Amino acid sequence: MKKLINDVSGVVPDMLDGLAALNPGLSLLQGSTIIVRADAEAAAARGEVALISGGGSGHEPAHGGYVGPGMLSAAVAGEVFTSPSTDAVLDAIRAVAGPAGVLLIVKNYTGDRFNFGLAAEIARAEGIAVEMIIVADDVALSAHGEHAGRRGLAGTVFVHKIAGAAAAEGRSLREVAQIARDTAASLGTMGVALTPCTVPAAGKPGFELADNEIEWGLGIHGEPGVERGALEPAGQITGRLLAKIIDDLALKPDDRVALLVNNLGGTPSSELSIVAGSALRYLREHKIHVERAWSGTFLSALEMAGISLTLLRVDDQRLAWLDAAAQTTAWPALSGRVAQASVKPAPVAPVTASGARLSRDSSLRRVIEAVCACLLEAEPVLTEMDQRVGDGDLGISMSRAARSILGEIDTYPSEKTPGAVLRTMSATIRRVVGGTSGPLYAVMLLRAAVVIEQSGESGTKDWSAAFTAAVDGVTALGGAHPGDRTMVDALHPAAAALQTALVKSGGIDTDEALKAAVDAATSGATQTASMTPRLGRSSYVGDRALGFADPGAHAVRLWLAAIRSALDTQA
Ligand code: ADP
Ligand code: MG
Repeated sequence: MKKLINDVSGVVPDMLDGLAALNPGLSLLQGSTIIVRADAEAAAARGEVALISGGGSGHEPAHGGYVGPGMLSAAVAGEVFTSPSTDAVLDAIRAVAGPAGVLLIVKNYTGDRFNFGLAAEIARAEGIAVEMIIVADDVALSAHGEHAGRRGLAGTVFVHKIAGAAAAEGRSLREVAQIARDTAASLGTMGVALTPCTVPAAGKPGFELADNEIEWGLGIHGEPGVERGALEPAGQITGRLLAKIIDDLALKPDDRVALLVNNLGGTPSSELSIVAGSALRYLREHKIHVERAWSGTFLSALEMAGISLTLLRVDDQRLAWLDAAAQTTAWPALSGRVAQASVKPAPVAPVTASGARLSRDSSLRRVIEAVCACLLEAEPVLTEMDQRVGDGDLGISMSRAARSILGEIDTYPSEKTPGAVLRTMSATIRRVVGGTSGPLYAVMLLRAAVVIEQSGESGTKDWSAAFTAAVDGVTALGGAHPGDRTMVDALHPAAAALQTALVKSGGIDTDEALKAAVDAATSGATQTASMTPRLGRSSYVGDRALGFADPGAHAVRLWLAAIRSALDTQA
């Protein structure tokens, strides 16, 4: 077990200490595990009904996160996954009760019912008006089965919100209790876990799941669920959960609901968004109107990866209570609106001038195709090389560039304007390749395009000058010089060798000059294996990169060789 705790017995007090320290609106009752609204006395004196919830810890931000104006007056925290004691609940009641009385909102677990129930009885004997409502929103369990009743899950947070808003309006205890009871009866929740969680005091997970297994319909205490199954795509899981809740609440087309997508603790935000998007789509397809929706960590089970979905039937009154102001740390006040049109048309790129297209038999096209074919073939090698010294995406980036260029090549401008062809290739790469190499290749092609366009000709010397300008562009954007262990270590010597060889042959022997360039790139790329990386992602690997050539430099060597052999076969 690895946890950021001080010691197992101090988990709950330490957590509450941090929560209260960060929030001037909250107080921790001395010597207790009770979080109260700092202004609880004033609210009670105004005649507001006080709301108390709580239960075992491990469900953060529930319930301390929902204490504040507009929601709870106090939250009583037990040990992790253990109901708080009767006396703790009683202390909370005494701390926040005013003339209007107290409503206890309790999740349906035996321990919680007993401790909150007994505390209510004792408080009543002391003359405090107390009502208690039970939330049992877990639709995975049958409503009247052989069990201790349906469990209280994340839907409880909706009850906090709605009852809290009703209490803030100054309604009576009877009314607030009835509103809370009706809300609890209009809720359905079901969850699915991808991993178990570990109670600090237990030190090991509550159950075990194989790599591809998920647990359906679990509670929030690390206990197993009602069924185990194979992992499915998020959309299918979402659909199955919603189907069960819809059936349970007997929702029909045109019914109005609020949706809560709840993280059980260890789910990345990205996956939560995927689930939320799937849920909204599913409900739209079933013609159920989602009036409000929230996605986040509302009621968790420690670090469990997984989610629960909650649907609550709403009418205008419930919507108003959901929308009402609340000042707590965990309820996202003033949110929950669902976008009507969530996709906006992207700005349209300027259309390239129409006119002649790059012809199939042009040598320029054959060179481009040869380079693309070579990069597609090199994908696995570049991936492996980049995995060793970087993050492994170079092969994919290069092949994505190649595939996109090949896909668009029929729309490229004519070989009669080679500068425009390079410019268009640059635009393709700029659009489809990110990472480091994307913009570097885009600038290379752009700089080369400018030289070719300005010279007005495209003889070997012009291409050589364009290549030099392209390499300068890489240095200008990336700041790398020879010796830094980047693609520049292949590009720079290759451009120099090309120029020298052309000068030597009086500009005649193109193949010889290209051979010199390929040789220079090859030896430059090879030499990178003995250089310590100073730039790019490899720099994080440091000396561990020694002995392995730079993948970007290797790629340069490959496509230069492809250019040479394409031109050679045409000669
Ligand atoms: P990343 O994954 O780091 O975004 P890529 O995988 O797209 O980058 O490209 C990695 C290659 O980029 C390296 O092998 C190296 O040749 C080249 N590179 C990294 N930084 C620079 C730089 N500043 N200038 C030129 N080339 C660079
Ligand atoms: Mg990379």
